[in-house]
Amino acid sequence: MVIDCHVHLSTFGHEGQTFSEIRDSLLASMESLGISYSLICPDSEPNTGVSDLATTEELVRDHPKLFMLGTVQVPAVGMALIAKLDGLADGGDIVGIKLYPGFELFYPDEDQCHAIYEVCMSHDIPVVFHSGETREEAWREQYNHPGEIAKVARRFPALKIVVAHFSQPHLAACRDVVLRYPNVHVDISGLAHPEVVGACGKEAIAYNLQDLASQQPDKILFGTDWPICDVGDHPRLVTSLTTSDMAKTLILSQNAKRVFRLDFDQ
Ligand SMILES: [Zn+2]
Repeated sequence: MVIDCHVHLSTFGHEGQTFSEIRDSLLASMESLGISYSLICPDSEPNTGVSDLATTEELVRDHPKLFMLGTVQVPAVGMALIAKLDGLADGGDIVGIKLYPGFELFYPDEDQCHAIYEVCMSHDIPVVFHSGETREEAWREQYNHPGEIAKVARRFPALKIVVAHFSQPHLAACRDVVLRYPNVHVDISGLAHPEVVGACGKEAIAYNLQDLASQQPDKILFGTDWPICDVGDHPRLVTSLTTSDMAKTLILSQNAKRVFRLDFDQ
């Protein structure tokens, strides 16, 4: 079984299509590649090329193969938005909360984020941080660097954290934070993208992934960043690891099932 913990309903490569059509393309892509379940990350900003929270809620409903995360624009967060996320988590409508430091100019350890983490902890769902390369503007990476995420891990040891994209290009720093903090996990979405391979180096990606997989295979979650990335290249990052089949099973499905507490029968 494969669970893709990081996809978007995005018009990237689907220009001119509705989000409903893009959702159907996602389901078709999952079917053809043998992906059983996908977790959709909505955009925190409305009216972009990526579906927002309300649109995603509408499109995920009644699709048993699709789960979704909540999100919020952190600089705009207040009691009403916290209550909204709390209600969605209560109803089992969201399986985590995705935040976008770097796209939005806040640091994960800032006070304004703490109420969001309380929602996550009270429902035992993870917070997922966008991390690393952001709009190809390196100065934005100071906001989502693994070192900043480590401050949250230290302050909230009961909070489950997922660092997206292995913080590329900060692969080694990310690996060190994941190894150090029991509550920090990583997803591999985007790592097979040709531009990411070009920026980080194929060897550095393989080395850091292998190093983490051989020490803490329970910390790595499979993800693709569909439709921005070619999904087909991502499973090979896992199948080429020189770890046990058990570790590969953890990475491809069981870690996501456990961390996001996904509720399905098989
Ligand atoms: Zn993404």
